[in-house]
Amino acid sequence: MVKFLDLKKVTALHGDEILQAVSDIVNSGWYLQGEATRSFEKNYARFIGCRHAICVGNGLDALSLILRAMKETGRLLDDSEIIVPANTYIATILAITRNGLRPVLVEPLKDTLQIDHDGIRKAVTPKTGAIMIVHLYGRNAFTPEIEAICRETGIPLIEDNAQAHGCRFRDGRRTGSLGLAAGHSFYPGKNLGALGDAGAVTTDDDELADVIRALGNYGSHRKYEFRYKGVNSRIDEIQAAVLDVKLRHLDADNARRLEIARYYDTHISRRDIEIPRIMPAGENVYHIYPVLSPRRDELLAHLSSRGVGTIIHYPVPPHRQEATRNDFWAKGKSFPITEMIHSRELSLPISPAMTLEEAAEVADAVNSLPAS
Ligand SMILES: *Cc1c(COP(=O)(O)O)cnc(C)c1O
Repeated sequence: MVKFLDLKKVTALHGDEILQAVSDIVNSGWYLQGEATRSFEKNYARFIGCRHAICVGNGLDALSLILRAMKETGRLLDDSEIIVPANTYIATILAITRNGLRPVLVEPLKDTLQIDHDGIRKAVTPKTGAIMIVHLYGRNAFTPEIEAICRETGIPLIEDNAQAHGCRFRDGRRTGSLGLAAGHSFYPGKNLGALGDAGAVTTDDDELADVIRALGNYGSHRKYEFRYKGVNSRIDEIQAAVLDVKLRHLDADNARRLEIARYYDTHISRRDIEIPRIMPAGENVYHIYPVLSPRRDELLAHLSSRGVGTIIHYPVPPHRQEATRNDFWAKGKSFPITEMIHSRELSLPISPAMTLEEAAEVADAVNSLPAS
């Protein structure tokens, strides 16, 4: 039996250090906006390669506060358009709609599953305020072509790095440091996961960092003085301390994910199961190991009968959700590549706590799907 994700085992990998960190905070009597948060922010900023890391309540808030801060500083207008991949988790889109901005959905490429740069180019208008890329599944989505579009047009790049902590662009820079600002989620199941909700923004922009820090703390720069109508979006000291521990092991944990992934790459062989384009080691931190199959639902049932847990990322694309389907950017729109991915995608188990024996069990189970 192989679970899709055994979080208990993932935590146990660094269990002693985590328990010590939690107990230190409990005994310190200081639970918000203290030493642990400052320490993690400093270490995470250095890890990503940015001047600033600002911790917030979760990944959605991180993305949303970046856009809000861009509005507050006059870099986005009320009717600005934000270019975003059509195949993403809904949070990316909600960060845009929450700010009253206009999502402009762009299809991914079939082989990489990442936003198509030609599609971005065609979607640019005088109202484009930002290009938001998503390093979906842990795969770097940044390309020299996207870099060129941003350079030529002056449109800022924002990264959704919720699924790709530790990933790199081919020149060695980490995802999360490639644009104006990036949103990170530390939801427990992410590569760098807390024991609850948490998130962060990274940026090199001093002004943006300053505004985001205020916005997440009721809009206050100084105690009891409020420049903005802000929100309460902060990180617990306990979560910051846990993340500081796990950050030290992140590269090693991601290396373990890569080993599992390479096992699947070389041991899964079927004509009716497609593995998305394999990327150089550093450019994919394998948050998810997706495969595509026209027989997805059969494969899911077959794996389940063999005791292998899987999840679909994601069964319904954002533009087809009940919550959004009457929105102007979704209604009557069709995104065939996105819809194909959503109808064929299945995620196999992967985590730093998995063994190669378990990976073999999964690969055998996949390969034993009866021919149709
Ligand atoms: C998890 C996730 C988010 C949101 O993060 P939360 O911490 O759950 O708010 C945003 N974008 C993507 C791509 C994600 O996977």
